[in-house]
Amino acid sequence: MPAALSICLLAALSANHSALVTPSSSDYNSSLAIYNLNLPIYPAAVTYPSSTEEVAAIVKCAAEGNYKVQAKSGGHSYGNYGWGGESGEIVINLANLDGYSYDDSTGYATVGAGSRLGPVTTALYNSGKRAIAHGSCPDVGIGGHATIGGVGPTSRQWGATIDHVVSATVVLANGRIATVSETENPDLFWALKGAGFSYFVVTEFVFKTEAAPVGGVSYTYAFQGLNASAQSQVFKDFQTFISNPDLSWELYIMMVGLPEVLEITGAFFGSLDDFNALGLEQSFSIPPAANVTVIPNWLDMVAIWATESETAEEPAYFYAKSLDILPDALLSNDTIDSMFEYLTTTPDDALTYELEVQLVSGAMAEIASNATAFPHRDVLYWIFAYASTNGTVSETTIDFLDGFNNVIYDAFPNETFYAYAGYVDPLLTNGPELYWADNLPRLEEIKKEWDPRDVFHNPQTVPVGEGSSGEC
Ligand SMILES: Cc1cc2nc3c(=O)[nH]c(=O)nc-3n(C[C@H](O)[C@H](O)[C@H](O)COP(=O)(O)OP(=O)(O)OC[C@H]3O[C@@H](n4cnc5c(N)ncnc54)[C@H](O)[C@@H]3O)c2cc1C
Repeated sequence: MPAALSICLLAALSANHSALVTPSSSDYNSSLAIYNLNLPIYPAAVTYPSSTEEVAAIVKCAAEGNYKVQAKSGGHSYGNYGWGGESGEIVINLANLDGYSYDDSTGYATVGAGSRLGPVTTALYNSGKRAIAHGSCPDVGIGGHATIGGVGPTSRQWGATIDHVVSATVVLANGRIATVSETENPDLFWALKGAGFSYFVVTEFVFKTEAAPVGGVSYTYAFQGLNASAQSQVFKDFQTFISNPDLSWELYIMMVGLPEVLEITGAFFGSLDDFNALGLEQSFSIPPAANVTVIPNWLDMVAIWATESETAEEPAYFYAKSLDILPDALLSNDTIDSMFEYLTTTPDDALTYELEVQLVSGAMAEIASNATAFPHRDVLYWIFAYASTNGTVSETTIDFLDGFNNVIYDAFPNETFYAYAGYVDPLLTNGPELYWADNLPRLEEIKKEWDPRDVFHNPQTVPVGEGSSGEC
């Protein structure tokens, strides 16, 4: 790193030498705790600011030195985008920015952008039993989650994490500190809700909160040792059940498919009687092994999901993909048969693979697809496919997952299937088109106005719109 940059960064960090890690630091390698081991990354510097002002000074140093910048919150990007997603960037690790406060009079919580979901959930619950929508893994960072989407168990009732953001403090590409909200810098506020990593570093969020659910029902229906045709039947029954437009928004439901077992699992935020009245168990033509438990409070419910996600939290060599299914383009029986035929007969050299099929819709679909940068409001369910390997992910495994998605693409040759930017797929050549769909042109214009030199960059950030750039 050039000496001038090093001096600038050290000054930005109030001369705190331990807050600046560079390739010449003895702890450089041990500090690179990347999540996707398949994508090793070597940043130009990793910084640990303690205030918004320090973040602003770091961004100024980076911009002046023509370096790219990414913030790191929880480090759970599938593409290691919190580390820049490519070598040579300046990483702003927000771990020290993890403050929390709650205002009783508004029901708003102020949360430091370096916080993790687990502590945020607990702090909200301890603030008069409040909650926001978010995913189920406690180590995911609020910084990356509340700027990309944040879809989880209560999303059918409350929308995504982004839908709870009422304002945020951000550092812009020129190092200026600004507030974004419906009334202040509304374009940037819109961009924050689904594409934040392209525009700024958020240092603090203000969230509107909801009354936490009073517990509910946790359930798993497991199907073991089925052949391809029986697995296919479970999927057909599942799709029929979740495509009922009158299905309760209090139901959180997903299908998790491993080679040997299929599980329908989730939660119902209501009474056991109301859960039983949904007729979920009776909807399967093949009897499952049922495990249904009443959970007395929200934190116990959250703890179940945390336990279930322990393995997924660990760094691994993996590749993953996502695709959306719309309510008016459900998979036909033939396509479902082909999917399971494919999965059971196609060679892969994965250690393990997993399909996760998650119903969304409900409150998510009540918001217009152009109301936030996150466009996927009309999605009925997502199919996430994941394969982990013992070492570097091979072409065979990549082809295996690509081929799985191709089974579905081939069934709808005139349809575009979109992808969720929260589960980035670094191998997509048209990532921004698939992540932001019809919202991409507006995002490109906003990028041109606020970050024309593309300071905030990873391999799939919003490109700078064409034409002359404005001032920021
Ligand atoms: C095990 C696991 C479980 C997951 N579960 C869910 C789920 O249930 N629902 C769901 O919707 N998603 C889920 N995700 C996806 C997750 O929400 C995204 O990967 C998210 O971006 C991770 O945020 P992070 O802060 O942990 O990651 P990081 O790697 O730190 O950041 C990811 C991206 O966000 C940017 N970013 C981080 N902080 C800020 C900030 N303060 N300002 C601006 N940009 C910032 C980074 O620069 C980077 O580009 C899961 C991911 C994993 C690995």
